[in-house]
Amino acid sequence: MSVFCGKYSDQLISTAAYIATPGKGVLAADESTNSIGKRFVSMNIENVETNHRRYRELLFTTPNALNYLSGVILFEDTLYQRSSTGKLFVDVLKDGGVIPGINVDKHKVKVAGTNGETTTQGLDNLAKRCREYYTVGARFAKWRAVFKIGPTEPSQLVINQNANGLARYAIICQENGLVPFVEPDILVAGSHDIETCAKVTETVLAAIFKALNDHHVLLEGTILKPNMVTPGSDSPKVAPEVIAAYTVAAFQRTVPAAVPGIMFLSGGQSEVVATTNLNAINQFVGKKPWTLSFSFGRALQKTTMEAWSGKEENVEAAQAAFLTRVKANSEATLGTFNANFVEDESTGNSPR
Ligand code: 13P
Repeated sequence: MSVFCGKYSDQLISTAAYIATPGKGVLAADESTNSIGKRFVSMNIENVETNHRRYRELLFTTPNALNYLSGVILFEDTLYQRSSTGKLFVDVLKDGGVIPGINVDKHKVKVAGTNGETTTQGLDNLAKRCREYYTVGARFAKWRAVFKIGPTEPSQLVINQNANGLARYAIICQENGLVPFVEPDILVAGSHDIETCAKVTETVLAAIFKALNDHHVLLEGTILKPNMVTPGSDSPKVAPEVIAAYTVAAFQRTVPAAVPGIMFLSGGQSEVVATTNLNAINQFVGKKPWTLSFSFGRALQKTTMEAWSGKEENVEAAQAAFLTRVKANSEATLGTFNANFVEDESTGNSPR
């Protein structure tokens, strides 16, 4: 058998196609309890479970915002939580035409003998967890593998290990009805130039698609969630058009046309920079057989979280900020975002 043709094949294909609907994108709201806690503390928001729930309710119930989204990635706790009116968040999303997804990885661990490189854990019990998540309404999953750029990084060991881990995760998801988001996150930290990032991105993606093929993964039922190709955070910035040209070229060389959608992580880019780069990628003239969209975490939430600051009286202003971001990124997926109409912001990349 060349590719997986299990009982969920048709559903996987239609779910992935829906996620990749032009004009829509994905909100990554799957920060772990620890990660969202750190962000709350940095903004003086009390880090308690009620606040995590209130904040996510604010996002999911922003008037009109769900029109610009095809999926939301949740952390496990959120999958079982309810809004203040008693409705499961999963149903809030589904009723708004948005597919719920679930972060299934169990975080990164250092790989012995490397210069601080990591691989991702979470394969144990993954099939069982996927079955449970499917039962409560999730239809896609996410697994993040992290790569860093250095003088000898990423090492071949870590490329192989992470590619194999992503492929094994992907096929387990597909066997249990979840579309895998395959997320290789090549960190922006460093002083490398854009050519180096392009080379590393192409090498990593080539290894991943070889592994996906080896593991019989159905590409039509898979979403790629990569970084954009940019210079390192300690290097001079380049124009969005340059980022677009290198990013699209990297995909043309490595990502099969069978993949319906490439939904970017924001990776520490500021909100407007991420949107402007996505817009340039979609304006780029060249072969692009995939939907090129967003699956942003920080670049969709930073100003929203700041505007909210944990206070009920700020909910409306925070929701207005969130609507601005999802609408701008929806336009960027169509190449129609006009940066001149938004606040001046040029903070560029910052490391995770
Ligand atoms: P950022 O957009 O903040 O990079 O987060 C996306 C994500 O899902 C990281 O795993």
